[in-house]
Order: sequence, then C-alpha cells, then structure tokens
Amino acid sequence: MKILVIGSGGREHALAWKLRQSPHVERIFCAPGNAGTAEIGEKVAISASDLEALVRFAKENGVDLTVVGPDDPLAGGIVDLFAAEKLRAFGPTKSAACIESSKIFAKELMRAQKISTAEARTFSDSREAIRYCERVKFPVVIKADGLALGKGVIVAADAATARSTIDEMMNQGRFGGAGRRIVIEEFLHGTECSLHALVDGNNYVLLESARDHKRALDGDQGANTGGMGAFSPANNWNSKLQSQFETEIMRPLLRGFLQERIQFRGLLYPGLMITSEGPRVLEFNCRFGDPETQALLPRMKSDLLPLLEATIDGTIDKCAIEWDTRAAVTVVLASAGYPGKYETGKTISGLDDAARLQDVQIFHAGTKHDGDKIKTAGGRVLAVTALGSTIEAARARAYAAVSRIHFENCNYRRDIAMSAIN
Ligand code: AMP
Repeated sequence: MKILVIGSGGREHALAWKLRQSPHVERIFCAPGNAGTAEIGEKVAISASDLEALVRFAKENGVDLTVVGPDDPLAGGIVDLFAAEKLRAFGPTKSAACIESSKIFAKELMRAQKISTAEARTFSDSREAIRYCERVKFPVVIKADGLALGKGVIVAADAATARSTIDEMMNQGRFGGAGRRIVIEEFLHGTECSLHALVDGNNYVLLESARDHKRALDGDQGANTGGMGAFSPANNWNSKLQSQFETEIMRPLLRGFLQERIQFRGLLYPGLMITSEGPRVLEFNCRFGDPETQALLPRMKSDLLPLLEATIDGTIDKCAIEWDTRAAVTVVLASAGYPGKYETGKTISGLDDAARLQDVQIFHAGTKHDGDKIKTAGGRVLAVTALGSTIEAARARAYAAVSRIHFENCNYRRDIAMSAIN
C-alpha cells in the first residue's frame, strides 16, 4: 500500500516509523515531513494546510491511505475532501472534529450526556465575561473556543488576570477568530492522564495510558507548550478508573455523537483530570497526541495499519492491540525560547551516537536537511524515547540518549516522568 502521512512533527515521524514496519506498506510519503521522516519515506513539499494540493497529490500518486496528524487540516475538513474524491483518509470529518475545534461544542455535548467535566459558562460578549468574573471563585480557567496551537488555555489566579485575558482573547484577537467566543470554567484539582481510543463510529479500542508534561520548565513552571515530554503507562491510571472512564465518558460520548448524527471515525484522545471523585474531562482531541504518540507507538507490538483500516471500516470491535509491557519515556528537545520566540538553523550533532543506544528511538520534529547536516527548524526539535523494564530504567536511558545530542540553545526538561518514580 501507498501511505501519505500529513504533518511535520514528532507525532508524524512516529506514525510513519510505525507504519513503515507494516508488511503491507510499500511506500510512504510525508507532507511536508522533516529530516527524520525523509529517512523512512519520500518528502512531499506540500504544507499540511494546503488541503486541495494534498487531495491532488493523493489522487495523482494512487495513495491508498492518508493519515492526518495535526488538528488544523481535520478542522478544515480534509477528510471530507478526500472522501468526496473516494480517497481513504484516517481521521474524523469536519463535523466530528468539532469535538476538538470548538470547546463550546464539546462542553454542550458533555452537558447533554452528563459527562463529568469542569463546570463552565460560555461567552461571546467580553463585558458579560468580565462581569461574570466579579463573582467567581479563583482560580478559573479561560479557554478560547477554537484551535490555538495548544496555547488557548489560561489559568487566571485573580480578577485582574481574568480581565486582561478576556480582553486579549475577545477584543484584541490574541488567538484570531479562535478567541471570539470563550469558555470560563472551574479549576480542577488532581493529576492529568491522556487516553487514546481508536473510534469507528460505534465501537472503540483503547490504547495504553500516557501522561504528558505541558509546561515549558521543570516543576511544571513556565508557559503551556505543545508538550515537553511524556511517559506510558500512566502511574495514576488503574482498571477501576478505566471502567469508570468507559461507562461514564466513552460510551455516553459515542451516544452523544450518534444523537447529533455525527459518525466519529478516527483517533479520539480525551485529556482527563483524575480527581478525588474520579476522571473528569479537560478536553477532547481528535487526533494522536504529540508527544504521547512518541511514547505509545514504540510500546505497540501490533501492526498499526490494520487498526487504522478497521477504524475507517467500522470493524474495530474485531481488533485487539498487543502491547510491550515495558515502560516508555519521551523527552522533547526544544529550541530555547519555545513556546515564545526562538532561533532556528542550528546544526544538530550526536544523533547517530544517541540512536546506537539500545531501545532508543529518536523522532524528529522541527528539523531539516541542509546539505549533509541536520539543522533545527522549529520550536520542538526532537523527541527522544526509550523503553525500559520500569519507568525509572526507561527514564535513565532516555536521558542518556539526550546527553549525546547537541545543538546551540537546546532546552529540555530534566524532570520528565520524575513524578512516576518519587
Ligand atoms: P486543554 O487544552 O483544555 O487540555 O488545556 C490545556 C491544559 O490546561 C490542560 O492539560 C491542563 O493542564 C490545564 N487545564 C485545562 N482545563 C483545566 C481545568 N478546568 N482545571 C485545571 N487545569 C486545566
């Protein structure tokens, strides 16, 4: 089969790397990919946002299956465009992708199905939102309704922060159209956990649990990022939580989609807060997590391709996934300054040396070839994953690999997966 992977991050490198291992895969194209995907597939110079060009490419090159990595093309309706041309694409349609692209849609669906989530109010008028904040208990969480590269969520500790955040989002266009409407919700206490489910409309299979680290700096300090590291399995997950999650979140959610006459087919990844009363939903994502995917796929023993196909065909209930029982730890290497301004074009060295360590996989994100050199080309540059018999062993190995990699202004967290050890 010919596969097209859309996107250019560590998640897409991990997806291409895993699909490459399938005996059914003959060729892999990555659009636009990075220096890592270029080693396992053919680079296609089309941006993930140029949906028409991607459809044309898939048609002209006889692509059998397209796997969409990022949320933006899904929210833009790429799967609908492919379907209209009778092309197979993995991911939800535009209306199903609303579960991620509109926090208000997600909240309303959860409310209708009595799915446990933070109490929330939605606003389309900034004065009303500011007035509301005069009588709430702080902290509150203020969220832009639409997609904002994972940065549209602000925890406001006091009324002054809430006022300025509302003003920036709703009046000053900090997140463009995504912030015209906002959600203000109760701050939940607990620990976070990411679950991934392959959902075929009526049924689903869960992937292993994972946890990610969203804040830029050690000790969960600094700005929210796309993710600075991850590990799997999650140390705060167990079978009791899982059965509560399945009966109180997953099943009602699928029922909600069907009531809205929406067929969700693709990867659904709920972000959860594990509270003293059980799991509560922070948000729903409709694509593989980044960097969770880089921790999960090295643990997956089953061939990913038939699982993606069964998700599209509505036969996921016939599938089971086999997992490596070992733990995985993923450390993201970023350009200093990320998620704010950062420099690119720095030469990366030590990649081969790091890759020689056993049970280590290096996934590229913001990298590109420049002659025979590999240079930085983005905020998150690499994700280094290691497997180990315990989280502690995986962690030690991941950091051993990280210490062999160098580029100017390289920044990474030193405490990934620490909370799972202490
Ligand atoms: P989201 O994009 O909605 O997952 O939010 C990004 C991050 O903000 C989450 O991973 C949490 O760390 C934090 N967050 C979001 N909503 C809440 C909430 N209601 N209470 C506490 N933290 C939250």
